[in-house]
Amino acid sequence: MLTDIKSFTREELEAQFKGWDEPVYRVKQLMDWLYVQRVTDWDAMSNLSKPLREKLRQQFSLGTLKLVRQQGSRDTTRKFLWQLADGAFIESVLIPANPSLYGEVSDRHTLCVSTQVGCAYGCKFCASGLDGWKRNLFPHEIIEQVLCVERHCAAEEAATGGKTATSFPGTRIVDNLVIMGMGEPLANYDNLLKALRLLNSPWGGRIGARKITVSTSGLAPQIRKLADEPEQFSLAVSLHGATDAVRGRIMPVNKKYPLAELTNALAYYRDQRGRFITFEYILIAGVNDALDQTRPLATLARNLNAKVNLIPYNQVEGLPWARPDDETCEQFLRALKALKVVCTLRREKGGDIDAACGQLRLKTEREMADSSQP
Ligand code: SAH
Ligand code: SF4
Repeated sequence: MLTDIKSFTREELEAQFKGWDEPVYRVKQLMDWLYVQRVTDWDAMSNLSKPLREKLRQQFSLGTLKLVRQQGSRDTTRKFLWQLADGAFIESVLIPANPSLYGEVSDRHTLCVSTQVGCAYGCKFCASGLDGWKRNLFPHEIIEQVLCVERHCAAEEAATGGKTATSFPGTRIVDNLVIMGMGEPLANYDNLLKALRLLNSPWGGRIGARKITVSTSGLAPQIRKLADEPEQFSLAVSLHGATDAVRGRIMPVNKKYPLAELTNALAYYRDQRGRFITFEYILIAGVNDALDQTRPLATLARNLNAKVNLIPYNQVEGLPWARPDDETCEQFLRALKALKVVCTLRREKGGDIDAACGQLRLKTEREMADSSQP
């Protein structure tokens, strides 16, 4: 089995090219084909000689992801379900900055990508962890989510005769990347960092490090490790509870890394980076939405210079949790603001298409299981 070329760094490819007696500047040309032109065929790499293309073909695979299902439409939040080479399913969600209401094309997009098949952390409200963890994604499987979505959008636009920048092969359509799809990114640390470096580098994906946000359920040791990396990736923490009692009820990871340990790691991150952290706080009715939770949450946020994103819970079929009514969410927001916390409340994008992580995969797997029953 050959490994996909997008799982190799520039340095690794340069070493390979030296071994072949090929000039190393060819690696830059190769990476341009992969990350800017997004080609899926060795023969499209017209400025590389035929013998070199042959050597590449013998040594590496050049794969893509298979699109099996899509929800949403151009310029609304849309969700892509991919099948990997081993048959497993993962999801990516594309969110336009300005969802189009009147048919105009949005040119700024955030893409949410997955890092694992399933998730081992088993948060009680989340669809991704329901069937446990299957495996880590390879770097190229993380990267291909970006490239596949872009190929797809460019092809779609070309087909409809669109004349915006999107239709040019070299244009980056995804300008913000959030690592908030299926899986716990910091539990797949090495592959994640390799993929993010390739997507960030000036000879690769060219997405600014600050425009890449890694979301974690709170793996304290890996947060410290991330704080020591040279790149300025942004960090979001899925907090969802501001006391150990509330957080422990819905997030088993809180037993391993209770709030005291998590906040120590975050303080280290803040001191190393001098940057804002984001706290994600899903509002779940009767679990963490009482107004008395705003005080401990405000204390944590202010101590750590964290901004708080309040997100009304997205119902998952088969799970007992529900979102609070709109007024409860607005009240929670007002109370936090009164405590001088920088915070926002997400007023739905994508809830209608099962946009929360893991839901489309779960639905598809359940449908497949149903249809295979006699
Ligand atoms: N494992 C990482 C990243 C993936 S989850 C993490 O937990 O941070 C991405 C975000 O989606 C997390 O904040 C998670 O708590 C949230 N999420 C999961 N299920 C959800 C649901 N049903 N409704 C709203 N947000 C959900
Ligand atoms: Fe895993 Fe994140 Fe879902 Fe928790 S919220 S189960 S860590 S994907």
